[in-house]
Amino acid sequence: ASGYSLLRDPHHNKGLAFSEKERDSHYLRGLLPPVVVNQDLQVKKLMNCIRNYQVPLQKYMAMMDYQEHNERLYYKLLIENVEELLPIVYTPTVGEACQKYGSILGRPQGLFISLKEKGKVLEVLKNWPEKKIQVIVVTDGERILGLGDLGCQGMGIPVGKLSLYTALGGIRPSACLPVTIDVGTNNEDLLNDEFYIGLRQRRATGQEYAELLHEFMSAVKQNYGEKVLIQFEDFANHNAFDLLAKYGATHLVFNDDIQGTASVVLAGVMAALKLVGGTLADQKFLFLGAGEAGTGIAELIALEISKQTETPVEETRKNIFLVDSKGLIVKSRMESLQNFKKPWAHEHEPIRELVDAVKAIKPTVLIGSSGVGRTFTKEVVETMASLNEKPVIFALSNPTSQSECTAKEAYTWSKGRAIYASGSPFDPIVYNGKTYAPGQANNAYIFPGFGLGLIISGAIRVHDDMLLAASEALAAEVTQENFDKGLIFPPFTNIRKISAHIAARVAAKAYELGLATRLPQPQDLVAYAESCMYSPNYRNYR
Ligand code: NAP
Ligand code: MN
Repeated sequence: ASGYSLLRDPHHNKGLAFSEKERDSHYLRGLLPPVVVNQDLQVKKLMNCIRNYQVPLQKYMAMMDYQEHNERLYYKLLIENVEELLPIVYTPTVGEACQKYGSILGRPQGLFISLKEKGKVLEVLKNWPEKKIQVIVVTDGERILGLGDLGCQGMGIPVGKLSLYTALGGIRPSACLPVTIDVGTNNEDLLNDEFYIGLRQRRATGQEYAELLHEFMSAVKQNYGEKVLIQFEDFANHNAFDLLAKYGATHLVFNDDIQGTASVVLAGVMAALKLVGGTLADQKFLFLGAGEAGTGIAELIALEISKQTETPVEETRKNIFLVDSKGLIVKSRMESLQNFKKPWAHEHEPIRELVDAVKAIKPTVLIGSSGVGRTFTKEVVETMASLNEKPVIFALSNPTSQSECTAKEAYTWSKGRAIYASGSPFDPIVYNGKTYAPGQANNAYIFPGFGLGLIISGAIRVHDDMLLAASEALAAEVTQENFDKGLIFPPFTNIRKISAHIAARVAAKAYELGLATRLPQPQDLVAYAESCMYSPNYRNYR
């Protein structure tokens, strides 16, 4: 290969970091200025560039650019500045990027499978240059973050999530495959946008939809085998629950919006109990939003309580209430409820407004997962604070504009007593002279380590007990120092170490359940997980 193409190959390019020897042996003389720098200096330079951009979307585009030019540098940048860059490659900025994807797209990333490819999906997979795929993140773009249907432009999400699989979970970039399934969009703005990149038609549903998805799922298994992890991402709930149920028995599938969220939030609740006191079974939960996130979290909490107290899950569900767009989910609504809500229809009088539900149910933990911002009003938070010494409040909806309440509102309205975490990041708040650091219930805590655990054990199925194991592992990483600041999640700075611990616990569970195929089981799973993790440091070329 010529030096010229080497500089344009993102997997091997090192830019100014090519050594004198490499410049000689790889025909690079003259194609680079004389200076030879190390990777650390390159990281420093790029961070300076990024910090010079005022607009988050510009930072996002710069990151995309680095990823396209120098993969190892991109990942080193991300790993070493994870707290600063996570909000760029992931929520909230990735949401804005998806909204404008058609206009900002450089070289396309990931694999696009549209209705046009029906009958040829296996061929499409074979067009992808990498053969050894370990993780696929796939979306159909129908419910991107809390932003709704972004159609084909949802591709930003699988791309971003897989960047985190590599940066935080240590999965090799070449083993990651982002996929967008394009069955159309019902978003009128996009259908009328001249720069829209997807199929210009309304969404296919029913059999046509199911057939394309099935062809994809079959082709993936045929092409990559049984141990490839398929993560469903940002599907609308009317498909998400069905897909998970349908393919859970035949494929290694994981839905981050349902299961990953559940595991992260359960970890946060477990950690919060150290501040609040009492057990999980002592708590009363109220959710605003009964979709993928809400019912997913509720189900995992009920499962954990059921294990802790050796009580049937049908019983433990009774301390958990959910409100959807029509009000409290109660028995009298049973007939008209979607299946995934039915287990939560308790015997109770109907209640329309959240604040009335808070007054009637008296929750100790309030969780927002409706995708609608500004719904935890002053009255709601004040009521929570009047009922509880330390009200636990999760405002999970993303991006920032959709937050149920801001960190500042939660601390101010509760007079500094709330234990608060949000989906999108907020800066620390000073209230009455005290600094409060709001925790971020970010899915990125769990899924990278969870996926790593599945991969290193060669797991062939996901089991709910693995999600519980991941929650316990994450909650165990919160230190006294974190608690002292009111934090119920550990800082992201040590996320690779955290991921290794989560991976080890998930892998151990896979072995225990007989779902692991990588035999014999490694002695020290944490050390093994760490040894498997991708390093972004340059290699020397001879
Ligand atoms: P989803 O499946 O569409 O569920 C949304 C739920 O909210 C539905 O039950 C819906 O009610 C309800 N809802 C909508 N508007 C409402 C209103 N005005 N009042 C009360 N309830 C209302 O969506 P999802 O996947 O669960 O995601 C929801 C939000 O959570 C999104 O913003 C997402 O970004 C966020 N999220 C955050 C995290 C995290 O922080 N780690 C993880 C996952 C998701 P109906 O069923 O009646 O329509
Ligand atoms: Mn998601």
